[in-house]
Amino acid sequence: QGPIVIVGAGQGGLQAAALLRQSGYEGELTLIGDEPGLPYQRPPLSKAYMAEGNADALILRAAEFFDSKAIRYLPETRVHAIDRVSRRVGTDAGDLDYGHLILATGSSNLRPPIPGLERAMDLRTLADAERLRGKIATPRRFAVIGGGFIGLEFAAVARKAGHAVTVAEAAARLMARAVSEHMSAMFLAKHRDLGAEVILGDPVSSVVDEGVTLVGGDQVAADEVLLAAGVRPNTDLAEVAGLVCANGIVLDGRLLTSDPAISALGDCASFPDPRTGRMIRLESVQAATDHARHIAARLTDKGDGPYAAVPWFWSDQADYKLQIAGLAQPSDRAEVVSEDVVLRFDDQDELTAVETINNAKVHMKTRRSLAGGEPVTADDARALIG
Ligand code: FAD
Repeated sequence: QGPIVIVGAGQGGLQAAALLRQSGYEGELTLIGDEPGLPYQRPPLSKAYMAEGNADALILRAAEFFDSKAIRYLPETRVHAIDRVSRRVGTDAGDLDYGHLILATGSSNLRPPIPGLERAMDLRTLADAERLRGKIATPRRFAVIGGGFIGLEFAAVARKAGHAVTVAEAAARLMARAVSEHMSAMFLAKHRDLGAEVILGDPVSSVVDEGVTLVGGDQVAADEVLLAAGVRPNTDLAEVAGLVCANGIVLDGRLLTSDPAISALGDCASFPDPRTGRMIRLESVQAATDHARHIAARLTDKGDGPYAAVPWFWSDQADYKLQIAGLAQPSDRAEVVSEDVVLRFDDQDELTAVETINNAKVHMKTRRSLAGGEPVTADDARALIG
């Protein structure tokens, strides 16, 4: 298969390199990333790192790991072209041949066409987080554009540190794409209890020196504005190389692109949902890691079946830990079992996801059950959580 080249040294790229070695791949292995320093994890950027500022705790593997595993790691190196005919990538550091290529290019902040948006900060990379942390050192008023996971996690940290925080969400409820109405309401109450102002259903129309203006005409006064309105997959490289892309690099059930010498994973990848066959794209540590595991197994002849991992996700907001096992469509029915547990069912009354707050026990039980491969009925689900 070799040499294997991995483009993107984030969560999934690093895991793919590590798992290839763990699975016995002995050929040349190069991991290329355009960010400086060692590969790091992003989830703490809006949580522990934002609160405490310990950058060392983010590092996924120490420098010695790359030497000891004979992984050639090229930081601050951008891959700018893929020549699929000669199987070569063009990088800032010269050309590199590949036998198999893994695209792990992640995603970038979505920048809607809002006038003045260049004034807003991002929270995607360690460099972004360092900049933002510099701002929370002294009391300020923050406006957060977007009531999704990242915006809300930041809002919780900023409120705890005593800042004034306004979250402006365009939709009628928080985290609307990902959770049930009940969970949106639980988190709305939590953020309001914490003292954040949360504005729903009134999109930001411009960013001005004094803060943000809303479509409805109101102004939110703010010293700093954080843009957290979702992401878009980094597919430019793949598109230019002629790979099929549609909200992500399109993969088959084995996580291969339209070129069998190229796999893709993580935030940049659109792949068939193992349960429904519907094309999905997930922005989670779980997807990046499980994709990497699947690709490493395939490339080392340890398994060639279809990708079948069950999605799961978490988000920490103040003292609420939201966990989601499985994957619901927004239209899936929600059954509120208790304040902290919601079951989601599709139109066949089959369990699709379980949302919990501070209830790791139910999360793990139901996650295991969803991973069983058999449909979980409503009765099964209720019996399971007792
Ligand atoms: P990434 O980790 O983003 O890595 C992609 C890398 O590729 C980047 O370093 C990028 O710069 C690089 N790259 C792109 N193009 C090129 C190129 N042409 N050449 C070289 N390098 C390139 N997920 C959870 O499950 N739970 C959470 O609580 C959670 N919290 C999060 C909080 C924040 C603030 C953020 C930003 C993300 C969070 N996530 C969370 C999402 C999770 O971090 C991502 O889903 C995960 O990092 C995706 O891994 P990836 O390898 O696909 O991409």
